[in-house]
Amino acid sequence: PFDVLVVGGGPAGAAASIYAARKGIRTGLAAERFGGQVLDTMAIENFVSVPYTEGPQFGAALDNHVRQYDVDVMNLQRAAKLVPATTEGGLVEVELDSGASLLARTVILSTGARWRSMNVPGETEYRNKGVTYCPHCDGPLFKGKRVAVIGGGNSGVEAAIDLAGVVAHVTLIEFDSVLRADEVLQRKLRSLPNVDIVVSAATTEVLGDGNKVTGLTYLDRTTETSHTLELEGVFVQIGLLPNTEWLAGTVELSPRGEIVIDDRGQTSVPGVFAAGDCTTVPYKQIVVAAGAGATAALGAFDHLIRTSAP
Ligand code: FAD
Repeated sequence: PFDVLVVGGGPAGAAASIYAARKGIRTGLAAERFGGQVLDTMAIENFVSVPYTEGPQFGAALDNHVRQYDVDVMNLQRAAKLVPATTEGGLVEVELDSGASLLARTVILSTGARWRSMNVPGETEYRNKGVTYCPHCDGPLFKGKRVAVIGGGNSGVEAAIDLAGVVAHVTLIEFDSVLRADEVLQRKLRSLPNVDIVVSAATTEVLGDGNKVTGLTYLDRTTETSHTLELEGVFVQIGLLPNTEWLAGTVELSPRGEIVIDDRGQTSVPGVFAAGDCTTVPYKQIVVAAGAGATAALGAFDHLIRTSAP
C-alpha cells in the first residue's frame, strides 16, 4: 500500500505528491488527466515568480517536477469510489473506473473543479479568444475594452465590480428577473458608472469574426425580443462545479459539493485529506491550490507519524 495516495494531478495534486515524496514515504498519484485545468488555459501571469507562462507549458513543468521524485504516477485513471478505513490507522481504499483498487494509509483528494458553461453557439469556439471563466486571471487582458459578465450571483456580481475598475464597460446579464448576489454587492454594483445590468435575459449566442469575440446576442425573456451587444469579452460566471460527485455520502461536502477541510487539509474521514478547487478553500487559483496541496501533504505526514502502520 501507499503511505500517501494523491487523487488528481492538477497544481494541488502535483504539489502534494512532491511534498509527500520528499518525506521519503511511498507516494502514488492517480489522475484522470495529469495537469488539470491549466491544460485548458492560455496565458498564466499570476503564478508568483513566473511572470508569464502558458497552460500546456505549465502542465509540462508540473509533470517534470513530479517526475524528479519517486512518485508512482498513474495517469488516465479515474477514481470512482472511496472506502474509508474500518479501523483507526487502517487502510483507505480507492476504487478506479478500470476496476482496480488502490490501498493507502492516507489519501489526498485534489480532483479540482470545472466551470459550468452556457452551452450556446460560439462559446466553445471563442474560449480563450474572448470567452473566459476567470476574472482574476484574464481581467487585465480586457483593459479599456467592453465586456459582459454572465450571471448575477455573488461570483458574477463580484466579477462585474472587479472588472469595472479595469475595463471600459461592463454589462451584467442575469437569466432570472432579479440578481441573487448579496445586497451589499448589488448596491456597490449599481453605484458604478460604467456598468449596465440586464435581467430576465438568456444569452443565446457568442458572436465573433472567426478569430475573436465581437459581441453576443440575448433574448429578453419578458418581451421575447432579441438584442445584440457589441463587446470584446464575455466572462461566464454561472457556477464552478467541484469534481466530487463520486464522494457524496462518504466525505462531508458543503451545500455546493465542496469537500469540507480544516486548516491542515483534513476531511471528515480520518486519514483522508483534500486540497485545491475541490475543497471549501476560498479563491480558486493555481497558487492557492499549490499551497493547499503542500498543506495537505504535510497534514497527511503528521497523521502518519501519529498512527502506527497496520
Ligand atoms: P485541477 O487543476 O482541476 O486538477 C484536478 C485534477 O484531478 C486533474 O488532474 C483531473 O483530471 C483530476 N480528476 C478529476 N476527477 C478525478 C477523478 N474522479 N479521479 C481521478 N482524477 C480526477 N488560475 C490562476 O491562478 N491563474 C490563471 O491564469 C488561471 N487561468 C485559468 C484559465 C482557465 C480556462 C481555467 C479553467 C482555470 C484557470 N485558473 C487559473 C484556475 C486554475 O486552473 C485552478 O484554480 C487550478 O488548476 C486548481 O488546481 P487543482 O489541482 O485544485 O484542480
